[in-house]
Amino acid sequence: MNIVHRARHFVQSLREQARRSIWDWQRCPYCGGTHTCRWGSYERRPWTLEGRQTVCVPRHRCCACHRTYSEQSPWLVRRSWYAREVHRCAIDFWQHGGTSLRRAADFVRSFIGRQERYLLWCISALRPLGEECRLAASTVHRWLDRAGREAELTLPGQLEGIGSSGCMGTDGLWSRLRGGTKAVVLALVDNATGLLWPPVVVAGEESEQSWREMLERAVGAGFDLDRLRGVVSDGANGLIGCLHEMAKWANQQRCVWHLWRKLGGELARQVSKVGVGLFGAAAKAARERVRRELVALIHGVLDARSQEEAEAALVRLKAHQLGAGLARQLEECLDAALIHLNAYNRGLARVAPEWLWRDFRLRLSRGRNHGTGVRLERAALVWAIYHNFTPAQSRCERKRRYRRPGQSPLEVAGVPPGEISYLDALAV
Ligand SMILES: [Zn+2]
Repeated sequence: MNIVHRARHFVQSLREQARRSIWDWQRCPYCGGTHTCRWGSYERRPWTLEGRQTVCVPRHRCCACHRTYSEQSPWLVRRSWYAREVHRCAIDFWQHGGTSLRRAADFVRSFIGRQERYLLWCISALRPLGEECRLAASTVHRWLDRAGREAELTLPGQLEGIGSSGCMGTDGLWSRLRGGTKAVVLALVDNATGLLWPPVVVAGEESEQSWREMLERAVGAGFDLDRLRGVVSDGANGLIGCLHEMAKWANQQRCVWHLWRKLGGELARQVSKVGVGLFGAAAKAARERVRRELVALIHGVLDARSQEEAEAALVRLKAHQLGAGLARQLEECLDAALIHLNAYNRGLARVAPEWLWRDFRLRLSRGRNHGTGVRLERAALVWAIYHNFTPAQSRCERKRRYRRPGQSPLEVAGVPPGEISYLDALAV
């Protein structure tokens, strides 16, 4: 059952619960017998988005098996002081709002209790006479962790039956955990749809084992390794070894942005040799001219439209009086930098998908305060599901443009979730 089916199933079950009539509740949930009688009731006082409410929960007793049971309600969460809508609101505040746990709790508390910040928003509001809401950050953290556990349960077959373009990108995000240990979140994303396969948390990105774990998790979630054609990433060696072992037919494209950054040092060294006998503006102008020449030559190599064009540009770079060192560095990774030109790898991006950490790092802690590796992984799994279900914004200013505004990665991949959200998928 993939994640969309799971979410639909959850919504369906809540709707069914809401539709249950008095007669339905007379059937014993333990033995299925209908010979039952009312057995009193008890009161619950859950916090909802409209404030604290009092609800009367009727109980029943089965005459056949002598057990008692109470009527369930889809909007109440068992053993919680807060209604389902408050759980969903708080998790969404943290995940979609990109805030810290403390602030998420602060906002939700203010809103439902008409207290604290609410008094800043509404000048004419009076201080509440009733009870004060005491929702704490640790409670929100517990709810999030519960959502993470649910996300772990969805791992087998999470994206089963959802097509993949075979052109993937991968990247890692380093985190410092409690006690000074470090861990890295590795994620695999489809270039064409932006669909994120479930991430893993590993100790480092140098070993083959780490990348193998990432691919194995994707395969477990329904990824067809035979369809993999290419992966774009920064120059992590472990990935090359891992691909060689698990998917010999797939190529690795080196991230062009990282190559530029790597060449930066050598470029600066060469440029500094220029204008030795000159002073002030004259030296500066000479350096600027040489830098522009060298950058244009490197562009010629990296942005070539065919292998031959790139090789011709490399010869030109080598012929430049200061270009030999740069040409040597480029030559080493030329093939890996031009993989996207192969007909076999059509559609592969040239840069590693660093953009995908944007949501994850929006929080005050930059998404890094999960303490232990297990919790970090749960947070990453929740985030991946959120990302797949959430439509990209429709923005029209020049600064930032989304490839598919208003569409979620699942929709682009051909499985539109419709009214179903990530909160349903996480059974919150
Ligand atoms: Zn019974």
